[in-house]
Amino acid sequence: MGLTQTIAEPAGLSVQVKRRALILFGSPGSGKGTQSKYLVERLGIPQISTGDMLREHIQCGDEIGLKVRDLMRAGSLVSDELVNRLVEERLREPDTDRGFILDGYPLTLQQADTMSALLARLGIGQLVIHLVVDYTVIIARISGRRQCPACGTLYNATSKPPQVAGVCDLDRTALVIREDDRESVVRERLEAYDQKTRPLLDHFRQTGERVVEIDASSLKPDGVFEKILEQVQTK
Ligand code: AMP
Repeated sequence: MGLTQTIAEPAGLSVQVKRRALILFGSPGSGKGTQSKYLVERLGIPQISTGDMLREHIQCGDEIGLKVRDLMRAGSLVSDELVNRLVEERLREPDTDRGFILDGYPLTLQQADTMSALLARLGIGQLVIHLVVDYTVIIARISGRRQCPACGTLYNATSKPPQVAGVCDLDRTALVIREDDRESVVRERLEAYDQKTRPLLDHFRQTGERVVEIDASSLKPDGVFEKILEQVQTK
């Protein structure tokens, strides 16, 4: 498998994809999940979201789920050791061979160190995409967020409302507020981001990773996506 692959698009255009980790970085509510989904569609590479993986464990009610449920409810981070293990196992799946998107990982210096060592061992480069958003915009955004408990589709009262208020467009299930999207929890998560995650930007710069900053406050999601694609295609 070559390091670069051309993915054909319906419009006849094509996007160059390098084999690397695209690290979507930004505070909770900065749009990482939405942008990940756009990238998955356009580039055909998988999204690895530690939040989604943990929620799946909670839904299964397995040992990991029981261990993390209360921490996630409170908006606290789960242990580095656990998420490092989940990511390492996920990278063994063959669908990651042409690159992948990391959404919500790494969130601490310990996770960043483990990730850098793992990617170096696997010979995979990194591109850090920092989605920059004002906290007041984030609180407004997250408080309008709803999710379909059946298929996982996310909606937003202002930016992506469902066709019928409170109901999923795809399967008509009643939408819910995600446990970790409640305002008190959001504030807790923003605090955790400030203390533990924001310092990673300096760490990435010091270790020589390419970090690109994208203004995700004023642009609409598709405008943010165009900016991300420009960077992904830059050598
Ligand atoms: P997210 O879906 O990315 O917003 O994450 C939801 C919650 O999952 C967070 O508030 C944390 O409790 C937990 N979580 C997700 N990713 C990580 C991670 N890399 N390290 C620790 N906790 C995480």
